[in-house]
Amino acid sequence: MNVTMDVLVSLAKRRGFIFQSSEIYGGTGSCWDYGPLGVELKNNIKRVWWRDFVQQRDDMVGLDASILMHPTVWKASGHVDHFTDPMVDCRECKRRFRADKVDEMDWTHYCAATKGNKFTIKAGEPCKHCGERRTLCPECGKGVLTAPRQFNLMFKTFMGPVEEDAALTYLRPETAQGIFVNFDNVLQATRRKLPFGIAQIGKAFRNEITPGNFIFRSREFEQMEIEYFVNPNERLDGRPADEVWHDRWIDDCRAWFERYGLDPEHVTLHEHAGEELAHYSKRTVDLLYRFPMGWSELMGIANRTDFDLKQHAKFSGKSLTWFDEERKEHVVPYVIEPSAGVDRALLAFLLDAYREEQVRGEKRVVLRLHPELAPVKIAVLPLLKKRPEIVATCHELRARLARRWAALYDDTAAIGRLYRRQDEVGTPFCVTVDVKTVGDAEKREAGDGRVTIRDRDSMEQIRVPIADVETVVSRILDAGATWTEVAAGYPRAEG
Ligand code: ATP
Repeated sequence: MNVTMDVLVSLAKRRGFIFQSSEIYGGTGSCWDYGPLGVELKNNIKRVWWRDFVQQRDDMVGLDASILMHPTVWKASGHVDHFTDPMVDCRECKRRFRADKVDEMDWTHYCAATKGNKFTIKAGEPCKHCGERRTLCPECGKGVLTAPRQFNLMFKTFMGPVEEDAALTYLRPETAQGIFVNFDNVLQATRRKLPFGIAQIGKAFRNEITPGNFIFRSREFEQMEIEYFVNPNERLDGRPADEVWHDRWIDDCRAWFERYGLDPEHVTLHEHAGEELAHYSKRTVDLLYRFPMGWSELMGIANRTDFDLKQHAKFSGKSLTWFDEERKEHVVPYVIEPSAGVDRALLAFLLDAYREEQVRGEKRVVLRLHPELAPVKIAVLPLLKKRPEIVATCHELRARLARRWAALYDDTAAIGRLYRRQDEVGTPFCVTVDVKTVGDAEKREAGDGRVTIRDRDSMEQIRVPIADVETVVSRILDAGATWTEVAAGYPRAEG
């Protein structure tokens, strides 16, 4: 692991990636706000995902359904009855925990063998002094825990001006159901044939009992979900089509995360065993990432069979089928559901990108984010901010670059520090304008019209005519060339 969660949380706050929600009021339980750099990073993740999985494929379309839906949707989907976690309450401090997670928490212990001294003991371990294991509340160390009770994770709200049961509805706990209830609308509007998929990115809300680990588990989060509809009567390579498509989606999702920066060694698959499998699922495979708290779910890829479409057909009385012209039969498609959390993806990309390096005896913190994800692509920096020609050239160049990429100007420190600041937020390129670029009128020296471009990862610098900057950046960001290939065409600048 490159970094601890504490270090990342502190960097995220200091540099404007992620703040605690309503912090000036003491914060809310596990909601997070994305700051100036965080929103860019998050938008980039969503944009790249949408481009790769929706726009570039001819078997996919998009959707943006509303968060508030008819309450019967949640009855049909099973969320009203089944979307629950077993929870236990502390009778003393009234804190609430997920019954299946209490043993995974460090616990507070007042040890009788040491005259009641208070210790914090690692999860699952006994007290070194008295050998006792946790039985009481892990947080306060005093209260007895209640027997587990089921707790529904959906947020309730009221639609319309009257707060009565008839107006009760929910904030969606997943985006998937918006897709299922629009299955027929999309089919009619697009005349699609199976297999095809509908994708959606949007907010979801879960009243998690034990949120935590920064943005890993929060109560308001974003999902990127696909429902991929397959004809279960079809066979591919001698196997049922849904099983083949399930395998393909697992491979595609894993490849996507690795393509945008996750170290393959930090990603693994977890096959749900029988009792772990949700009631609607034929097979579920999770993509796990090695988060600082251990291997945890980054996304899930489930074969939901025809469960959801059949349930919504039953509850709505509408037929939700696809007509197979070849076989002349109505089919209820099977559904493969790759479901990823935007926030968990962002956390994994940040964690994997973080490096601390030694450069000439000094520590350099660098986020080696994939250039497509980096919040800022280019920083334009003046070597001397007191020289108006330098500053004007910087502003002009930044404005030109900003038409295509996120580009910023910064003159609030000396150049070494400006570079370090950009490294720390993952900016792939810094462009520096100096005296040689603009010349020195007093000394009657003409400028060479060249600027220095510095590569974040290698820290190499090349000297490039101002007019070429856009092309250099574009070759790397848009055309997939490497820095080494591009840099070979220009003279090196002094480091
Ligand atoms: P977990 O077991 O971690 O609670 P889950 O299996 O309930 O997750 P799904 O219902 O499969 O999660 O949701 C799909 C994806 O949505 C998850 O893989 C995760 O990336 C994201 N997600 C789910 N719950 C949260 C949450 N509370 N905060 C942030 N992201 C979440």
